[in-house]
Amino acid sequence: MQDVHCQVLVIGGGAAAMRAAIAAHDAGATTLIVSKQTPGYSGNSVIARSGHSGPFGTPELDDSPELFVADTLHAGSYVNHQPMVRALATEACARIADLIAWGAPFLTRAGHIETQPSAGHQRPRGCYTVKNLDRGRSPSAPTGRPGSVIC
Ligand SMILES: Cc1cc2nc3c(=O)[nH]c(=O)nc-3n(C[C@H](O)[C@H](O)[C@H](O)COP(=O)(O)OP(=O)(O)OC[C@H]3O[C@@H](n4cnc5c(N)ncnc54)[C@H](O)[C@@H]3O)c2cc1C
Repeated sequence: MQDVHCQVLVIGGGAAAMRAAIAAHDAGATTLIVSKQTPGYSGNSVIARSGHSGPFGTPELDDSPELFVADTLHAGSYVNHQPMVRALATEACARIADLIAWGAPFLTRAGHIETQPSAGHQRPRGCYTVKNLDRGRSPSAPTGRPGSVIC
């Protein structure tokens, strides 16, 4: 049996785990990811449709976190967890920018992130990665292999 030491242990290898591991690593912690299946290639994250929403606005239509919150609460019949809705509305654009900076291939048009209409939104807010259109070439098939990564 091998002893492995870390300052932060992340259990799971989906999007939430990978994002937590990046944050821990960037904060200077020795970070260990342990997952039932292959880290980065497992869980619901790898079979999701890869759609994200953010109040990006378009050249023709402005948008704001406040309008995103209002639409989300209305569509959710006001039973939403409001602090989570506000966090999503205010953080979404910056976090999607993080994904783009790390190499996620989001669809763009004329140099801007491409947004499409989606249910419940008064503005076009849905943006997608290339994976959504081209699943054949994406590393999307869970391998079933357990794994660990130290970073
Ligand atoms: C078909 C489908 C389409 C979707 N489309 C979208 C979309 O377009 N947009 C959107 O925002 N959301 C979408 N979702 C929802 C989204 O995929 C999930 O909310 C998100 O992926 C959850 O991420 P997660 O990291 O919390 O969990 P997961 O990605 O499920 O990761 C869980 C991780 O935990 C590991 N694990 C499980 N049990 C153990 C254990 N006992 N020990 C160690 N590791 C373990 C797994 O191997 C996996 O790595 C979709 C979901 C599905 C199923």
